[in-house]
Amino acid sequence: MNEMPEPVQLHLRRVWLEDGRFAYLCIGPEGLIQDWHPTIGHYGFESLQKNAAASEKLPFLEGLLPYRESEPFILNAITFPKGVAADIHILQAAQKTWVLFFDVTESLKQKQKLQQDRHDIDLLSRQQQKYIKQLTQTHQELEGKKKQAESANRAKTRLLSYITHDLRTPLTSILSFAQFLEADVFGGLNEKQRDCIKKMLDAGEHMNALINEILDIAQIESGNLELHIEDLPVSFLVAECVTWLQPIADNHGIRLINHVQGRVKIQADSKRFKQVIINVLNNAIKYNREEGCIIISAKVMEDYLSISVKDTGIGIADGMVEKIFQPFARVLDKKKAKDIEGSGVGLSECKQLLELMGGSLGVRSEPGIGSVFYIDLPLAVACKGRSEYRTYHRLVYLHQDRMHFELLNGLLAPYQNYRLFGCTRDEQGIAECRKQQATLLLDVEEADHPGLDERLASLRQQLKPVTMVAVLEKSTEAAKIKRILQQGDVDDYLLRPFDFNQLIDILEQQ
Ligand code: ADP
Repeated sequence: MNEMPEPVQLHLRRVWLEDGRFAYLCIGPEGLIQDWHPTIGHYGFESLQKNAAASEKLPFLEGLLPYRESEPFILNAITFPKGVAADIHILQAAQKTWVLFFDVTESLKQKQKLQQDRHDIDLLSRQQQKYIKQLTQTHQELEGKKKQAESANRAKTRLLSYITHDLRTPLTSILSFAQFLEADVFGGLNEKQRDCIKKMLDAGEHMNALINEILDIAQIESGNLELHIEDLPVSFLVAECVTWLQPIADNHGIRLINHVQGRVKIQADSKRFKQVIINVLNNAIKYNREEGCIIISAKVMEDYLSISVKDTGIGIADGMVEKIFQPFARVLDKKKAKDIEGSGVGLSECKQLLELMGGSLGVRSEPGIGSVFYIDLPLAVACKGRSEYRTYHRLVYLHQDRMHFELLNGLLAPYQNYRLFGCTRDEQGIAECRKQQATLLLDVEEADHPGLDERLASLRQQLKPVTMVAVLEKSTEAAKIKRILQQGDVDDYLLRPFDFNQLIDILEQQ
């Protein structure tokens, strides 16, 4: 390096990077290689010879030699076979040509990587733009379809409103004229004519109810249904609905047992709440068996009230349960569908109404045994999480052995929502049940005891709206149990010694 002339050293100092690799070659005026720096091997020039013609050994100098300019000539990023790269500066000093190598392998790699990254980013951004364009297009198409659907729905709702309105007006006239005829306003009717008028009125009323249901559904779907949510006293409203439906249940010999008591309040729209209860109760009557039973109970949960309506009817086939909540869906065989009046609209409307009120509608069913419908609604704020609003389940145990009573009492002790009363005589049991509106648990020592049927029938006669559960020995034959249940006086049975799970299961359903 000492032999390097001043201008070369100056240039070298200007360009030299501390951590960069450096090498040089010196070429004499005749174009022959005179000297080189030892690191030149790094660029692949291992076998240099002095006085070799530079243009042969260093092909990149072709056309540049002999170099005569005063300013350096720079070749950028020349790559060599070993995978290294250098910026090459050619200088003329002391009548020699100096070829300086500055290693740029790393920076070239970084530059290339940067370029690749830029290229990738560019590609990604182009792809992204393509996707955004596609998404925008899909979004616009969806928006268009949504608008079409909304407009079709509005048209459907308008059409339904017109139709129902236009149907209702002539229907009201038909019903009014039929009522005139029925009231003998235009002279007496014979038996047959009276029968026809009655059928006309019945069919007209049915059509009226159907129109109202369709109107309601149209309003719910269009989001135009107005609800007046307030704190409602549940037991009062349920009792009202039960009173309305009692005559229909009586017509079919169905016992309607209402256990909903207490001061608990829910948040709901009074008219719509009653509509739901009436619909579910009406179904429990329609789809029940003659002489069947319906039990309505309520359970206070943490922040909602669960009202259950249990029937002893035909039940719903497996896999059909979801279907019954769809509009116009009836899941009956053809013969039953003909015999039992209905449109399949009620439950779907009830479900939507309950959801609008922040509640839900559910069902559990066993074909041939019966169904339980659950109506859940939010508790009034003042009742949430308050134990004094819990509804109690009162049980009267008409037992034949004090021990049995003590055992049951012990089992139920951890459950705060049960109140158990014991008695040993039928009259006492009847009086307690009536007083407390309780469920009667009844010890049956022998399932074929003479006089048992008469006793059960008499209890049933005196305790019409009460659930009766027979308590039998575990060893009782299944056929005997079946016979007792088929008599229709008791609603369910429990086996003694009590199986804890069965006990709670049965009591929960009463
Ligand atoms: P509808 O009773 O007018 O047919 P709903 O919407 O009230 O219409 O009920 C839909 C269907 O659900 C009924 O057609 C019936 O098949 C079934 N269903 C409803 N309630 C009961 C019930 N308590 N027991 C058995 N099936 C029922």
